Amino acid sequence: MPSSSGIEDYDVIEQIGSGSYGTCSKVRRKRDNRILVWKEMEYGGMTETEKQMLVSEVNLLRELRHEHIVRYHDRIIDRSRYVLYIVMEFCEGGDLSSIIGKCKRDGEFVSEDFVWKMCVHLSSALQFCHNRCIRGGRSILHRDLKPANIFLDSEQNAKLGDFGLARVLNHDNSFARTFVGTPYYMSPEQMNCMTYNEKSDVWSLGCLLYELCSLRPPFTASNQKELASKICKGKFPRIPHQFSDDLNNLIAALLRVEDYKRPTIDQVLDHPLLIKNGGGYL
Ligand code: ADP
Ligand code: MG
Repeated sequence: MPSSSGIEDYDVIEQIGSGSYGTCSKVRRKRDNRILVWKEMEYGGMTETEKQMLVSEVNLLRELRHEHIVRYHDRIIDRSRYVLYIVMEFCEGGDLSSIIGKCKRDGEFVSEDFVWKMCVHLSSALQFCHNRCIRGGRSILHRDLKPANIFLDSEQNAKLGDFGLARVLNHDNSFARTFVGTPYYMSPEQMNCMTYNEKSDVWSLGCLLYELCSLRPPFTASNQKELASKICKGKFPRIPHQFSDDLNNLIAALLRVEDYKRPTIDQVLDHPLLIKNGGGYL
């Protein structure tokens, strides 16, 4: 894996978090004082296969250039310490899980307008990934759409982050990881036949928009069996009354149990309810 720059080209400003595989820090690029973020990932304990997967996921990240996808800038390898640094855009608005947490603590709701904005931005990021095959690659499924993986910039524009890396670093290219923790956003088809397709990303988008409004996922349970049964029945309470029927109806369309009844991401972006309410963000 060639690397264009070294860690000496950056100053670490502060650590902003630590994930399962390493830490995440805010850094300043010396040549232009640009504020960025780097994720440190230790690869010393990885098998050859895992390292190969990491390389291919990082290569994929470089191609994902879209205004609503966290922009990848560089990778640096520190061979003496077995650490890979992924340098990326800094999203100063934090992630959606913090916004949801804050709303819960303060007993507030986000504005409906914000939900439409997230809907448009995230649909457009997913469209870019799903339609990548048209441009000669394979279609990319996010597979891990959740509030902690959606970031905001200074103007509250949504940025989809954490592509694939979590998957590699959690030793999973299949479904093992889905069964760690509670898979609130898992689609009925994943529950039933372990398949994941573009429509499963649409389902997760529905779950995410629902949680943004209701401050809780559409399906909750204290164990996996009960959760699976609720997901497959597909019944959920309406989003809180301050949100419109338009928003409720669009979310309900994304949460149809049968994947073929859900809109494709192209159809979401062309949806009359989205054009009417979120058209200004298109
Ligand atoms: P994990 O997802 O395993 O908790 P991450 O390394 O993804 O660990 O994130 C750690 C923290 O850093 C989280 O609070 C996350 O919101 C924040 N973070 C990650 N990437 C960015 C980014 N590009 N811009 C701003 N904050 C980020
Ligand atoms: Mg993360």
